[in-house]
Amino acid sequence: MDGLNWWGDEPAGEAQTDTDRDVPVVALGTALQRTIKTPISCTGVGVHSGRPATLTLHPAAPDTGLIFRRVDLDAETDRDIPVTVERVVDGRLCTTLANDAGARVSTVEHLMAALAALGIDNLVMDIDGPEIPIMDGSAAPFLFLLECAGQTVQPAPRRALRVLKPVHINDGPVSASLMPAERGLSISFDIDFKARAIGRQSCRFSLSESVFRRHLARARTFGLREEVERMHAAGLGLGGSLENAVVVDDDVILNEDGLRYEEEFVRHKALDAIGDLYMSGRPLIGRYHGVRSSHAHNNILMRALLADPTAWRLETVSEDQLGQAAPDAFQARHEALAPTRACA
Ligand SMILES: [Zn+2]
Repeated sequence: MDGLNWWGDEPAGEAQTDTDRDVPVVALGTALQRTIKTPISCTGVGVHSGRPATLTLHPAAPDTGLIFRRVDLDAETDRDIPVTVERVVDGRLCTTLANDAGARVSTVEHLMAALAALGIDNLVMDIDGPEIPIMDGSAAPFLFLLECAGQTVQPAPRRALRVLKPVHINDGPVSASLMPAERGLSISFDIDFKARAIGRQSCRFSLSESVFRRHLARARTFGLREEVERMHAAGLGLGGSLENAVVVDDDVILNEDGLRYEEEFVRHKALDAIGDLYMSGRPLIGRYHGVRSSHAHNNILMRALLADPTAWRLETVSEDQLGQAAPDAFQARHEALAPTRACA
């Protein structure tokens, strides 16, 4: 399959020789922007509405950025929802973006995580309703979709968001921080749940496509049985099921097939954070640490970073500065509070 060529078929320095076609000159080794080779679609249900939705990804020109397009809405000028930190309007259960006209799209985070991991900069993403399909509750189906579409390197430099100063937010037992780093994005995440099947879990890693693919992409979203029941009673989470979430009842995993990774819960939280941090549409150079941090907290953290112009800088970077860790540069730990039982 042609999509297996993850890093595009042009060497990174190719654009430098391309001056006769009015293409900007880019220094050898500079990280270049990427889009996909061909349009591609998937269909699934929205986790909150329970309604089917089709997502179609289209290649886009350099410097377009990532744009959701609500193709079910009539007014053409009001359909586009560019991905930016400021357009995140709701991060309670999932990440929702809205434009000035009020058009919304929610549950974007797992798709965003896959885009961050692959370093896709430019896409127009058609969606025919207010929710991105939940698929299996992980980022793996989106990773597969992007793999099938293939990637193209574009003759324009990527610009990374470099963290220059520590930024920290606190909310009771929850905290999240960003620290400067020389290269790449490293992530550490800790969770601590009363449910004994989850317990205390942590993971730390340097983000790369291979780490994401091997250690994170398949981690599914999860919920506690009582929360799921409460949501269903309130008419929310209507598309949620054991097909697209891990559901836990104290020390019992209700999914018949159990977990995909021993620390699937914290891996999923880290996956969510990767998507949340990519809402700027730029690769981030820094160190992130989250303790029980939600989508909403991650968005507040990104807003706090961007609100201080001395805390960050946009810069043209080399592939090396974006960091490509070895595939095994991943650690996870799980202290279960009781032996986990599978669903009877
Ligand atoms: Zn998630």
